[in-house]
Amino acid sequence: MKLYNTLTKKIEEFKPINPGHVNLYTCGPTVYNYAHIGNLRSYILADLLYRTLKYSKLNPIWVMNITDVDDKTIKGTIEKYGKNATVDNLREFTQFYLDEFKKDLDEVNVLRKEITFYRVTDVIPQIQKFIVDLVKKGLAYVAEDGIYFSIEKYQQNIGDYGELVGHKFLEGKKIGARVSVDEYEKDNLSDFVLWKAHNPETDGQIFWQDECGDNEIKIMNGRPGWHIECSVINRIGFNGEPTDIHTGGVDLVFPHHTNEIAQSQALFGKGNFVHHWFHSEHLLVDGKKMAKSAGNFYILKDLEKKIAKKIAGVSFRYLCLQTGYQEQMNFVLENFIGALHNLASIIEAQRNEDKGKTTECDLEMAQNNLNIPQLLAGMNKHLTEYKEYNQILGLDVDSDEVQYYFRPLEDWSLPEEVVNLKNQRRIAREGKNFAKSDELRKQIEDLDYEVLDTPEGQKIKRKISL
Ligand SMILES: [Zn+2]
Repeated sequence: MKLYNTLTKKIEEFKPINPGHVNLYTCGPTVYNYAHIGNLRSYILADLLYRTLKYSKLNPIWVMNITDVDDKTIKGTIEKYGKNATVDNLREFTQFYLDEFKKDLDEVNVLRKEITFYRVTDVIPQIQKFIVDLVKKGLAYVAEDGIYFSIEKYQQNIGDYGELVGHKFLEGKKIGARVSVDEYEKDNLSDFVLWKAHNPETDGQIFWQDECGDNEIKIMNGRPGWHIECSVINRIGFNGEPTDIHTGGVDLVFPHHTNEIAQSQALFGKGNFVHHWFHSEHLLVDGKKMAKSAGNFYILKDLEKKIAKKIAGVSFRYLCLQTGYQEQMNFVLENFIGALHNLASIIEAQRNEDKGKTTECDLEMAQNNLNIPQLLAGMNKHLTEYKEYNQILGLDVDSDEVQYYFRPLEDWSLPEEVVNLKNQRRIAREGKNFAKSDELRKQIEDLDYEVLDTPEGQKIKRKISL
């Protein structure tokens, strides 16, 4: 299998570190809100990678963190529970969005039940221990407002801090200032926070005490920064082994993944963390970055409002399959509806295929740097192999559900109002009153139904449009 590696900037032959299994890690969501469709695309792409590894019999083990404590989850908890909100409140607040996230993964056919999830608030003692070890090694230091990672010490003792971003990254940048927020820009190379001291003004009563009881290094009351969790969970999730492949969106290359590498290599040595970095490109909406303020922001629930809940997720997945993971995907609502129609025609065609035939799907396309658009095109030509291709493409959908939207409906299943309009329209057409007929068609469409004039007369379907 060949795969592009962000670290070496090359397509490489992929080989597991330890033969017999592949350790696959994906940066999970921050559960302070619903995942948007850009987030979901990156999880669909990780799922395509997981399925390709699985179908190639490489036995992937898939681990994902859940960020349930950070600046944003704390802010959301305080807004909901007030300024004295506790860790229990934080757990409750984030559990809701975690459950919603899992439902979304199910809707887009990610093999969610095969993922091992770790909530950050479940691994606080291990995070504290990791930080204590970093301080003892001289790579981190205790300040008044928290414990920070020293980029200067890393550069002196371990290696190039900017290796994932690229060689020129460090040029002309000043090292040394400190940054305590979880997300920041790359203008300054600041020492980043591993553990934030408790601040009642912003954190309410959300903090943890020292739970690792080290004799030399005392952890102040506080909570972890964002980046440390992934270094720790990579290690816990794979029983201390290094990670074969780490996935995430390109926006995570800096600072998040850069800092993950620094923290982990500081403790385990250079080359002993992630061997292969897999980054997926951004999703744009109408050619622009998605933003609530720009009115082009979608979560899966918005798409479900457009079409049936049970097929919106798979239709979105089908749309995602058409763009390579290293290309920006431009989401346009019209294309989403088009994807639904295509999916429906594949399912319809598949029903009519000879079900006895089975052939192996040609895996080469997926194994060639995850060329899923080519695999999809291959499936469209060989629908008899649908089931084989589908092990990777993951387009399983309840075909009755699809039919429900595409088959003409019998009068008994239509609202009386629609049946009345239909009958009036038949009379108008018999009397050649086409203006009246068009007006009645419009009235039917306003009720979210569609009229087809066929040789057997009028047929009514559910309307699928924007
Ligand atoms: Zn992460």
